[in-house]
Amino acid sequence: MNTNKALLNWYQSNKRDLPWRSNRNPYHIWISEVILQQTRVVQGTPYFHRFLKNFPTIQALAEAEENEVLNVWKGLGYYSRARNLQFAAQQIMKEFNGEFPTTHKELLKLKGVGPYTAAAIGSIAFNLPVAAVDGNVIRVLSRLFNYTSIVNSTIGMKEISALANEFLNEQAPGDHNQAIMELGALVCLPTPKCDRCPLQPSCAAFAAKTQTTLPKKSPKKSIKIRYFVFKINVNNDCILLEKRTNEDIWKHLYHLPEIELFTREDFQIEQQNWMKKAKWNSGELKHILTHQHIVSETFFMEELNASDKGEWIPLRSLDDVPTPKLFQTIMDLYLGA
Ligand code: SF4
Repeated sequence: MNTNKALLNWYQSNKRDLPWRSNRNPYHIWISEVILQQTRVVQGTPYFHRFLKNFPTIQALAEAEENEVLNVWKGLGYYSRARNLQFAAQQIMKEFNGEFPTTHKELLKLKGVGPYTAAAIGSIAFNLPVAAVDGNVIRVLSRLFNYTSIVNSTIGMKEISALANEFLNEQAPGDHNQAIMELGALVCLPTPKCDRCPLQPSCAAFAAKTQTTLPKKSPKKSIKIRYFVFKINVNNDCILLEKRTNEDIWKHLYHLPEIELFTREDFQIEQQNWMKKAKWNSGELKHILTHQHIVSETFFMEELNASDKGEWIPLRSLDDVPTPKLFQTIMDLYLGA
C-alpha cells in the first residue's frame, strides 16, 4: 500500500471525534484552528463551543463589541489573535460580501491568517490542494523524509513546505492535512510510538534510527524577565483598573495599576517599600508568557495616590471585563484571603 493511502486509512479509523469535524463550515474550521494554536484539544473544545454560542456567524463576530470578544477569549492568552479574528470577520463582511473567501490567495488577505491557517481552511472547507504545515506536520515530515537540517530557519521552512506539497494527496487534501496533523498529535509524538505507526514501512528516520533527534531546531530566543509591582485599590466594592493601550503585553485588557522595574535589585527595594504600607500582599508571583517571564508582587493599599488612574469596576462585574490570566490569579488570591 502506498504511504498516502496508508495514512488516510489510518486516519479514517483513528481520528478523534472533534466538534469542528462534524461539517466543513469554513467559519467553524477557522475558529477551531485559531483556538488550537493557543491550546490543546481538551482545553480548547469548551472555548470553541463558547465562541460559537456567542458569535454564531461571521456577521455576529464582526458586529460584536471588542470587549465581548476579548472576554469570551479570556483564559486563552494571546489576545491579539482574538482581535484579529474580529477584524478578519469585518473584512469578510466588507470586502467579500459576507461570504468566506474560497481561494488560498484571498484567505491570506484576512488579518491574522497565515499560510498554515489559510491552507487548513482552504483544504478542509474548499478542497484546495495546499499542504498545511504546523508543528505536528513538521515533526512527522522531518522524520518521514529524515530531514536533518534545521527546520526553524527560512530555508528549513521552505524545504519542509516543498516536501509537504510533494507528499500532499491532491485527491483528498483536507483529509490528508488532517491525517498528518492527527498522526503528529497521537503517534508521531516528540517521543514517537513507531510500533503503532502506519508510516513505519516508509519512514526514513525509523530506518536510520534518527527519529528521536528530529526535527532539528536552532536554540530558542532568549527569554526577557520583567518585574512589576501592582496595586489594588478598592472603594465601595469597586476596584481601580487601567485599560492597557500601549503596544505591549495585554493590549486592550484591563489590569491593576502598575510600576515596572528594570532590575531585580530595584524590584526588591520597591517590594520592601510597599510592604511597609500595604494591608495585604500577594507574595512574589512568576508568570510565564511566550518570550517573557513576568515576576510580580501585588499590594493592597488603602490610600489612593494622585497618580492612580483608571476606571472603577464593580468587583461583582469582573467576569465581564477582559483581563489577563495573571490578574485572575492575583484576584483569586486577594478575594480568597
Ligand atoms: S515511524 Fe515513527 S518516526 Fe516515523 S513517522 Fe511513524 S511515528 Fe514518526
